[in-house]
Formats: sequence, C-alpha cells, structure tokens
Amino acid sequence: MESFRKLGLSEQFLKLLEEAGFRKPSEIQEKVIPLVLNGKDVIGGSATGSGKTLAFGAGIIERIRKDKGLQVLILTPTRELAEQVGGVFARFSRYKQLNVAIVYGGVNIKHQIIDLRNSEIVVGTPGRIIDHMERGTINLSDLKILVLDEADRMLDMGFVHDVEKIIRNCPKERQTLLFSATISGEIGHIAGRHMKNPETISVDSYVDPSKLRQVYYDVPKNLKFSLLVHLLKREKHGLVMVFCNTRHNTDFIGRNLENLGIDVLAIHGGLTQQKRNRIMEKFNKNKVYVLVCTDIAARGLDISGISHIYNYDIPKTSKDYIHRIGRTARAGKDGIAINILSEMDYDNFGNVLKDPSLNIEKAETPETETVRMMLPNQRFQKRQRWDSDDWKSRKFHREHHARNREWTDEGQRGEKQKRDDQGNFMGGKRNFGNRSGRGNFGGRRGIPQRSGNFRSQGRRQGNRAKSFSRRGRF
Ligand code: AMP
Repeated sequence: MESFRKLGLSEQFLKLLEEAGFRKPSEIQEKVIPLVLNGKDVIGGSATGSGKTLAFGAGIIERIRKDKGLQVLILTPTRELAEQVGGVFARFSRYKQLNVAIVYGGVNIKHQIIDLRNSEIVVGTPGRIIDHMERGTINLSDLKILVLDEADRMLDMGFVHDVEKIIRNCPKERQTLLFSATISGEIGHIAGRHMKNPETISVDSYVDPSKLRQVYYDVPKNLKFSLLVHLLKREKHGLVMVFCNTRHNTDFIGRNLENLGIDVLAIHGGLTQQKRNRIMEKFNKNKVYVLVCTDIAARGLDISGISHIYNYDIPKTSKDYIHRIGRTARAGKDGIAINILSEMDYDNFGNVLKDPSLNIEKAETPETETVRMMLPNQRFQKRQRWDSDDWKSRKFHREHHARNREWTDEGQRGEKQKRDDQGNFMGGKRNFGNRSGRGNFGGRRGIPQRSGNFRSQGRRQGNRAKSFSRRGRF
C-alpha cells in the first residue's frame, strides 16, 4: 500500500484499493496519478489491461467535490466500455458518495436525464452525449475534467466530429486527459488543438509477451469450422473468445457451435444494449465459456480469465490484432492466440504480419473430424413471410424449407444449393447465394488448392476478401 500512498492518494481511497486487493500501482498508475492530482493534461499511451481506468480515475475522484454540479465527462467509444469505466468510478468513489451517470444510445433516455441532473461524473458515448447536449439535458458549464478514453478507437469508429463538437462545448478552463493504445497523427492534432502542455506517458499493457503464445493454422476453407471445434474440445482452457469480422459470421458461427452443444454466446453491435449487457454478464460470471464476437462488441472490455483467443476471421490490421490478443495473458497468466486462416484470410494476415514485433508460429494441423454446419437462413425465412401471398414467394418458401433440411459441409454446398446458384431458382442466386457468400461459403466449391506463399495467394484472393468485409457490418 505504501507505493500507492506515495502517489498522494487519501487514506479513504487507499482503503478502497486495499479492499479491491490492489497492492501496488501498475506502471501507468504510478506515472499518471500524480499528474492528474496536480491538474496536468496527460496523453496516456496504454491499452486496456494496463490499469488505465484507475490511472485517471483515482486522481479524478480525489479532486471532485460532491454536489458541485457535473464536473467530469468521460467519453468512451462503446457502451460496454462506458459501463465498465462507470462501474470503476462508482466503486472507488463510494467514500465521497459521488453520483456517476452512464449514458449511451440504444436504451431509454428518460432515466439518463434524471441521472444527469444530480451527477458529478458522467461516462458516455459521443452520440448520446451530443443528443443530451441538443436536448439541453446535460449541463457542462461546471465541467473541470474531460477524459477521452480509447481515443484511437473513437476516431476509428468515425466519432471525430462528435468528439470535436463535445470538446468545443466544454469550458476552456479544464483539465484534459487522453488515453489511446496508439498515438497517431490524428490524435496528435486533437491534442494540439484541445490540450494544454500535455505530458505524454507511454507504457506497455499488462499483457506479458512471455506468457502469450501465438500460432496460426493454415487450412482449406471447408476445414476452418471443424478445426475450431476440434481445438475447442481438445485444448484445456478457461474463457475463450472467438473473433469474427462481421455480425453475420458471428451469429453464424455462434449458432453452429451451439448446435454442437458447446456453451456459447454471440455478441455484436447489432444486438440491443440490454442483450449485450446480459451476454457480457453471463460470460463474466463464467456461465458460458465461449464468446463469439466482433471487435466492436468486445472492444476495451476487461474480462479476466481469458485463456484462448481464436481469430476465426483474421483482423484487417495489426492494430486490431493486437487489441484482440491483448485480452489474454494478463496479470501473469498464460494465454494463447490461435489464428485459423484459409486463403481468403491471407491478405489480412499479411497486413497483421507487417508488425515486426508479432511472433506467430505456424502450427501443424491436427487430424480433424469434419463437422457439418447448418446453412445460415433464418433472416431469409422472416423476410419471405411478409409477402407470402405472392406465388413466387410461396415457391421460395417450399424451396427454402427443402433447403432447410439439408445439412452441408462448410464450403461444400448441397446439391440443391448448387442448383440455386446456377440460377434455376427464382431469387436463389441473388439472395441466398450472396447471403451465404458473406459468411463462410465463397463462390468456389470444394477444397481450394493451396501452394506457394500466402502473400501472393492473398493478393489473388484480395478482391474477394475485400468484398467480404465491405458487405459485413461490424
Ligand atoms: P484497465 O486497464 O483499467 O481496464 O484495468 C485492467 C484490470 O487491471 C482491471 O481488472 C483492474 O481491476 C485491474 N487493476 C487495475 N489496477 C490494478 C492494480 N494496481 N493492481 C491489480 N490489478 C489492477
């Protein structure tokens, strides 16, 4: 506790840290807490897992006074991160009984309006904060501290104008803290425009590279799912995250794993907030052990006990890759990142490998039993119900149900499906063909021929891989 005390924190705060079991500050906490206490602007280069929330949270909580209006605004890229950060603030501000409002879109705004009236701290996503500004339900005139958490993510997600607008509406006399896993030129611009002589602090995350193994399997497309199932069943693991690049694939893989009796939940930005919260709660409480997710849904989340990260789809950049793998091998525990790639991933994998610090070994593909997948057809079924009087639609229904009964190997489609693709069947090619192509079934059938190095292969596959990602939404 002595090392925390030296940073200038109060006895009440130290007591809460002790109760939480935090014995000594992390590197970022050690460097940032004194600066925040002294009212300095700070740019913190650190990712989730470094202890950054308390690095800014401790100093902020100590400086804020009860019943003096809204004094702190923390912007986060995602709702989940807003909940997480809000939770930390609520927990560590108990001794002052500060009120923390957490505001984000996708949920009823009325409760937020009430919360905002008597809160000292607000944590929120940019869109909903702007909404409150336009309604006049947030009063920023007493604001003392502005925090941009995971600023790089906010910019990546296209929030730059919203963030700028919010900053312009904050009082000029304030302290600004910016945290970001990467400090890019754009971050530098924001800092230049809105911060006063900021101190830049950079640290590594808690992820221990010596504890993290990274491997890749290179398999034909039609074996990807089978290998995933094989590894999930064979590997000894704690919690597992399986990353996909699109919502569609996330649902599809989740449903197929569930079908095999695996304890799994899928989460992505297309679900309602309540549903996302419920899923995260179950995963956190180890009620399910596999979470299939997109980057956005899982971004910035602090979940302990993740032993395995699977990249079922390879992310497009090394930055995204590093974000994904940063969820395992934390706080001295072992972790493994497993990349399952086939030819359509070569382009992305080539991009990931541009980061020379990444050491990803090739793993020998084990003998794997082929697992059959179900076709992704549920949404399609719904749309057809709307116009079921239409004769075409009735025909579609019949065909659709026939297809429903067909189970097919991934990549090797049923005979019926092949006929549909050849255009014998109304709408089949346009609707169903494209729909399935978005996920796992590319236009080609059978086992792809793989030879040579994956970069050149990747280039040949490039267009198709790109059209995959363009169509899917994150
Ligand atoms: P963060 O980077 O803020 O998301 O924090 C990552 C994890 O580290 C969270 O589970 C925190 O509860 C935990 N943590 C933060 N500070 C400390 C500390 N000083 N000692 C031990 N664990 C910590």
